Amino acid sequence: METIYFDNAATTRTNKEVLAAMLPYFAMEFGNPSSLHESGLRAKKGVAQARMTIAELLGCKPNEIFFTCGGTEADNWAIKGLCLAREAAEVNKRGHIITTAIEHHAVLHTCKFLEKQGYRVTYLPVDEAGRVSLVELKEAVCADTFLISVMYANNEVGTVEPIGEIAEFARQKGIAFHTDAVQAAGHFEEKLDASGITFYSASAHKFGGPKGIGFLYVREGTRLAPLLHGGAQEQKLRSGTENVPGIVGMAKALSLAMQGRQEREEKVAALRDYLAGRLLSEIPMTKRNGDALDCLCGHLNVSFAGVQAASLLVLLDMDGICCSGGSACTSSTGNASHVLVAMGVLEPWLSGSIRITLSEENTKEQADYAVEKIRDAVAKLRAQNPRWKQR
Ligand SMILES: *Cc1c(COP(=O)(O)O)cnc(C)c1O
Repeated sequence: METIYFDNAATTRTNKEVLAAMLPYFAMEFGNPSSLHESGLRAKKGVAQARMTIAELLGCKPNEIFFTCGGTEADNWAIKGLCLAREAAEVNKRGHIITTAIEHHAVLHTCKFLEKQGYRVTYLPVDEAGRVSLVELKEAVCADTFLISVMYANNEVGTVEPIGEIAEFARQKGIAFHTDAVQAAGHFEEKLDASGITFYSASAHKFGGPKGIGFLYVREGTRLAPLLHGGAQEQKLRSGTENVPGIVGMAKALSLAMQGRQEREEKVAALRDYLAGRLLSEIPMTKRNGDALDCLCGHLNVSFAGVQAASLLVLLDMDGICCSGGSACTSSTGNASHVLVAMGVLEPWLSGSIRITLSEENTKEQADYAVEKIRDAVAKLRAQNPRWKQR
């Protein structure tokens, strides 16, 4: 039986064309971009071309794109790098950061770490759709607020945040604005230089590229200290030999994601809504989490009362269906999703929530098969749940 892959927010298949673009840089053009010989120069050209492609697609300058090993590094770097630059400029300077309760752990755990270093952090609440309020954000600003970090779109529920308005507000206030755009990159038209965004994090494996490569957009003129010291690559700000195949593949993946984007997204969203409609109408005590309107096209977070998500995921896996509970990164720890908790989701919905994230590769036949299997699995788990039977 074919596997039905419904976990595209965790990672995506590397696109065939992306793979083809990368292959020459493993065995033929394998030189080190810092080398001065012909082989090195060809690798250097590949990196420069990729940087130009990404900058063009995002409406920024090539020298504002810095390659990292992924989204986690880009998030860590934007936040800690800004802190370190301020501390260097004014010895031991601390201050106030505003973020949200629903960020990815790459941002949340970075902020928790900084609190131990003497920074103050406000974690903004969200409404039941998972959206931050601009009013609450404005109220949270203090005299020493130097950074606002709000994710572009949430990885667990797909809710899109009011990034344009936040960026505009941050620019007026002269506060740096970082957005974790790892789920959003490749899904929206961007004009980064014309926006109020200071830092924008992305990761190739979330948009059809390879794992282990990402980038951070850093607005020209922004103070940022390096986290990695060494060979002074990336304008001396991110040392380490460039992941040339990864960089080339990421640029190709972003180009492909932006080509025919609207049509593809409408198709994915239509399939997602079809699946949601069937699940909600055919399985009693089922609820959708998040915002059905301003949402990433492939995201569907649903709760089944009387069911433990982990058990449901095991049953679905046996039927060849891959999805996840909350985010892939936390599903192994068994903790309730911090995102759903922040959205005010209570039991019995909280522990029975799974995340289905579709891509253009998924079909109506797969959705129909999944509805049958989810319906059976939920019925089976509810039958085994003594507390459910008492209802
Ligand atoms: C996946 C993800 C990350 C981490 O990116 P990696 O490239 O896997 O390190 C960060 N933020 C969000 C919102 C993500 O979905």
